[in-house]
Amino acid sequence: MRICTSIAESETENVLRYSQRAEELGTDLIEIRFDYMKELPEDMEVFDEIEVPMIATLRTKEQGGEYSRDKTLIRGFLLLAALEGFSYLDIDESSNILKAIREEVVGTHIICSHHDFESTPSSDDIVDIVDRCARKGDLAKAAFRVQSLKDLRSIFEGGKVLSNKELNFVLIGMGALGTLTRIFADRIGSSFTYCAAREEKTTAAGQLDLETMKRLEGEKIVTGITGYPLSHSMSPPIMNAAFEDLSLPGIYLALPSKDDELEVLTDLIRDLNIRGLNVTIPHKERIIPLLDRLDESAEKVGAVNTVVNRSGELVGSNTDVIGIEETFKRAGVDAEGKKSLIIGAGGAARSCAVFLSDHGADMFVYNRTRSNAETLAEDFSGLTVAEEDELDGHDFEVIVNCTPVGMKGFPDKVPIPTSLLRKDQMVMDMVYNPPRTRLLREADKAGAMAYSGMNMLIHQAIAGFEKWTGKSPDYEVMAGALRRELE
Ligand code: NAP
Repeated sequence: MRICTSIAESETENVLRYSQRAEELGTDLIEIRFDYMKELPEDMEVFDEIEVPMIATLRTKEQGGEYSRDKTLIRGFLLLAALEGFSYLDIDESSNILKAIREEVVGTHIICSHHDFESTPSSDDIVDIVDRCARKGDLAKAAFRVQSLKDLRSIFEGGKVLSNKELNFVLIGMGALGTLTRIFADRIGSSFTYCAAREEKTTAAGQLDLETMKRLEGEKIVTGITGYPLSHSMSPPIMNAAFEDLSLPGIYLALPSKDDELEVLTDLIRDLNIRGLNVTIPHKERIIPLLDRLDESAEKVGAVNTVVNRSGELVGSNTDVIGIEETFKRAGVDAEGKKSLIIGAGGAARSCAVFLSDHGADMFVYNRTRSNAETLAEDFSGLTVAEEDELDGHDFEVIVNCTPVGMKGFPDKVPIPTSLLRKDQMVMDMVYNPPRTRLLREADKAGAMAYSGMNMLIHQAIAGFEKWTGKSPDYEVMAGALRRELE
């Protein structure tokens, strides 16, 4: 796939510096966004030193660009760029100078571009728009705001139809979900894909930087996380830090999906050969009927937090149990025979019950809604349901909080009476934001061994990463990325 690096700098000196860097990194084309420059350069010969084909773009504010000065200068400027050897002029479909410039230039191609910053139309409409732009220019460029997986599907479907039409086009999805259209531009049939010269200077949401795009050339490991909403997820920085550290051609994306989009998502995973996915609230159980099979861990927990794509076969797995197991190993605690209290009765509590029951612990569960604790107890023989007032008098060697109590945005409370905390006890909080919850601070005070959910989060991430890539990431690299996010 050919890569076009978009240069959005205010000074000519920086345009040249980042163009040269992009050439060194192997860009195929360079787009100079003249609308980002403080002044329109008078001396266009300075750009002669750029050897790859160049695109000149001067987009007005009304067209979604940055140019807000004298509009009568645009036509003359673009004609000058053509004379100076720019291979392409990018002109908005709505521009009244498009037709005249196309008739005037010789040897320079016109990119007729269409931008919809609000929405993505149906795949049929996408095809019509690209068809129309292709007639008005030599290459059609259409960019749409992608707000859902259904929008994303429309772009890939539109691309499939357009690929059979022998048109030159570039089709882009803008926004975080649209990143997939940039990575898989060849699957859409685009002539090239756009990226930014540097991470902090992207010209469109969801655009990646050149170094990342080069890393993803050829065979790539695309992974991500789904759930809804996903704004709180710490997984993308953790996983991407690991990909970078291991110099792997991989990326981890946030792929939020609403309930009725899960099937679109699993279709996309198969179609695009997305290597795997983490699954979080509220889809851990809902995704199960859409998978081909579950492994033993997911069967036992009855929920999936990791999907592995084995050549089209989607296998559901649950690495939360590994995350808990590794935290116990870190603490040097063997759960066998230990009197243990699980707080909560949701999905995370279920993973904890699997771990503790596999290791022969003596399990108790305490939950806000007793009936949910009873449902959990039905699946785990030997698990005793307790009311809060029944907890007094018990001496627990292990306590695991599997509720969001203490998490940022929730009341800063301890989910059990602090009288239950004591010296040499293991206290694990699945909450990782903040890293030291009130429960852990109280446990510290009581002389217990207090473990944050950070350990579990990273160990479950390591297990997923290994399943997708066959490589073991470094714990400290991931922990460092998580700490930076939590700061
Ligand atoms: P879930 O399935 O929604 O279950 C939530 C549980 O917490 C339920 O038992 C619920 O009680 C209880 N709960 C919710 N709000 C409460 C409140 N205000 N006071 C008392 N109890 C409350 O969620 P989950 O997937 O099990 O996740 C639970 C927590 O674990 C979350 O904070 C999640 O971020 C964390 N977690 C961390 C990791 C990690 O790697 N560190 C992994 C998985 C989960 P009811 O039955 O009464 O509704």
